[in-house]
Parts: sequence; structure tokens; C-alpha cells
Amino acid sequence: MTLKFCQGPDCHTYNTNDRLKGQKDNKTYQTRRRSNFYYGRGNFCDRRCMEDWVAQYVEQALDHFGRTTQAKHLTEDSAWIKDYDWGIDDEQNRYFFINAITKERRPLTEQQYNDRTYTLNG
Ligand SMILES: [Zn+2]
Repeated sequence: MTLKFCQGPDCHTYNTNDRLKGQKDNKTYQTRRRSNFYYGRGNFCDRRCMEDWVAQYVEQALDHFGRTTQAKHLTEDSAWIKDYDWGIDDEQNRYFFINAITKERRPLTEQQYNDRTYTLNG
């Protein structure tokens, strides 16, 4: 089992007991190290550390990967959303696609609803 370090730049500055390590007269607060983290795709020990990273590196990251410089468009072709209505007693009609732009509804089975790969979006 390999342990990895939290990538939060200030992780070691938060004074929690689990971060305090070392021998009696040589203790330091240290960056958390675990086999698994739950934030930022497994890179941060908690939300604060993830937000610290964003605050410190977001400008560099955007410069590196490219900024959005014009509006993106979600067109009718790609505006289909899966939805359900528990108020509908008839199970056959409980699930449906709804188009976020035209508001058109199209029927959907529960199986299709749960199938993450099934979509009408082009
Ligand atoms: Zn951390």
C-alpha cells in the first residue's frame, strides 16, 4: 500500500493532532499522508486543502490549459436531461427525457434512466 501526500500547499499549517508527528522533543505538524483521499480526485485530504490549492494555482492552471474566452452554447441537440416524477403512478411514464430548451418530453424506461451511457444528446 503506497501512501500519498495531500497536495494542499498549507496542509501542514493546520494544527490537528493527526498532523503532529515526530519524537517527543522534535515534533512538527506535517502534511497529511494517506492511502486514499476523497477530494479533488484523490489529491486532497479535505475541502479546505483543495480550495487552498485552487486559490494559489488557479491562474497558472488557466494560463496553462487555456481559458474560456467566448460563450459555449448548449444547443437543442444536446439539451436532453433525464428526469423522473414520483407523482406519476404509472411506472411506464415515471421516467422521461426533457429538453432543457424546447421543454419537449420523450418517454424513458427505468432501465434507460439508469443506463449512464444512454442519451439522446448528439
Ligand atoms: Zn491536506
